[in-house]
Amino acid sequence: MTQTLNPNHALAAQLRDTRLSAGLRHFIGGQWVDSASGETFEAHSPVDNSFLVQVARGDDTDIDRAAQAAHDAFQNWKEVGGAERRRMLHRIADLIEQRAQEIAVLESLDTGQAIRFMKSAATRGAENFRFYADRAPAAQDGQSLPAPGFLNYSIRQPIGPVGVITPWNTPFMLSTWKIAPALAAGCTVVHKPAEWSPVSATLLAEIMDEAGLPKGVHNLVHGFGESAGRSLTEHPLIKAVAFVGETTTGSHIMRQGADTLKRVHFELGGKNPVVVFDDADLDKALDAVVFMIYSLNGERCTSSSRVLVQEGIYDEFTARIAERARNIRVGDPLDPDTEVGPLVHPRHFDKVMSYFDKAREEGATIAAGGERVGEQGNFVTPTLFTGARNDMSIAQEEIFGPVLTAIPFTDEADALRLANDVKYGLAGYLWTNDLTRAHRFAHGLEAGMIWVNSENVRHLPTPFGGVKNSGIGRDGGDYSFEFYMETKNIAISLGTHKTARLGVGQPPKVTPKEVEG
Ligand code: NAD
Repeated sequence: MTQTLNPNHALAAQLRDTRLSAGLRHFIGGQWVDSASGETFEAHSPVDNSFLVQVARGDDTDIDRAAQAAHDAFQNWKEVGGAERRRMLHRIADLIEQRAQEIAVLESLDTGQAIRFMKSAATRGAENFRFYADRAPAAQDGQSLPAPGFLNYSIRQPIGPVGVITPWNTPFMLSTWKIAPALAAGCTVVHKPAEWSPVSATLLAEIMDEAGLPKGVHNLVHGFGESAGRSLTEHPLIKAVAFVGETTTGSHIMRQGADTLKRVHFELGGKNPVVVFDDADLDKALDAVVFMIYSLNGERCTSSSRVLVQEGIYDEFTARIAERARNIRVGDPLDPDTEVGPLVHPRHFDKVMSYFDKAREEGATIAAGGERVGEQGNFVTPTLFTGARNDMSIAQEEIFGPVLTAIPFTDEADALRLANDVKYGLAGYLWTNDLTRAHRFAHGLEAGMIWVNSENVRHLPTPFGGVKNSGIGRDGGDYSFEFYMETKNIAISLGTHKTARLGVGQPPKVTPKEVEG
């Protein structure tokens, strides 16, 4: 892979020297610390799989220290007023914005995501903090529910210390999406980032510390899923786990958290359909289809990885996708012209490559791509499979790379059947100019989020999450507070109701209402 040097490379070289050469440590109780065991692991550059940074390898002892720190800090943080939490979260957002370039370059170095997308990922991280900052003062608000003889009112209170476990694909943005509402609600946090991309979590911890977040309110423990992650989900002081990652890991976490009755919130995998009817604006649909599978290296939970195209336009539309796919610039993630960078890790690279063989074995056609790029690193060509059937593994399994499977359909009923015939249900995209059909189809589509005549354009107050094997619970708006807070009802008698009297000699008349629980 040839490299043309630009200012991002200079900054990357400087950051390697100043930030990464010393290694990454945990942040526990306001202190940067090594693992109690002294153990470390290495993270590598997706560009050539060379050594990038040495990382502290947390285990039970480190998680226990972090959970205890979060528990201790919770006693004060839960009492901090909403206005002060708002001020603090805006301060964090300010610092993220100031360091957006540094965040973007480090995220690119660590994940292989193209820098053109990472700059906005940092900005979006700041937006997440601002959005929840402004909602912090009202987070505890409840309802007034008067009843005969009673005033009932509800309040919300933070659930306690929570665990946040994040994946490797866009770690900075996803971490802020979880941590910002947790802090706004009054919870304290122990964050366990993905072992394949641990760098930006360290920067986020540093920023929150610099903003003046009290010690122990946010804690960071690096390490592997089976050890540090597992320990976090089992810890009795951790009251809830917000997890983003694979569906099978979600099942493990549910089992691990069973003994301590953890509340869980899962954002899991997807095999999201984009359905293109022949009456759609096909130029716009083409742009959106290409963007939603090839941006962010296809390592995106809401990517539209199955395109269902009406049979009359199938050949022409898929030929246009193939042409675009072949023109996509694959290369150095720090080059602003690059559209697709290397996949995060050799193991993920092998997984994505294995689907090129599977597609051939299953009888699909590789209309574009299907190859590795270069001799080193984890680069693959943007790929399109045509002539696919919905029962093929390339149509059923989440590949999580720049790989699209195209399937023809006959009519609306056929499209809906195909769209719903997967175990996942995160997002769905629909292209048609028939208004009634759009509503009808959107109601029938089994997905948590549907966009009509659009790619994924996020609006933070709206619910984000999936159905079926794509998740449990919703983020966004007030939905996040429902997860990070407990609702408490307080019933106050107005002194007019009668209490049944026991032990006074006369059998009282008990009405059905009085024996309710
Ligand atoms: P993963 O499930 O392998 O890992 C995610 C995190 O879980 C990592 O931090 C890992 O260390 C940890 N982990 C692994 N095993 C664990 C265990 N037993 N207990 C506790 N923690 C454990 O996922 P990944 O490969 O890092 O990320 C890719 C997946 O994430 C894809 O399936 C993608 O669709 C999904 N994702 C979903 C969304 C969404 O919003 N629905 C967003 C981004 C990514």
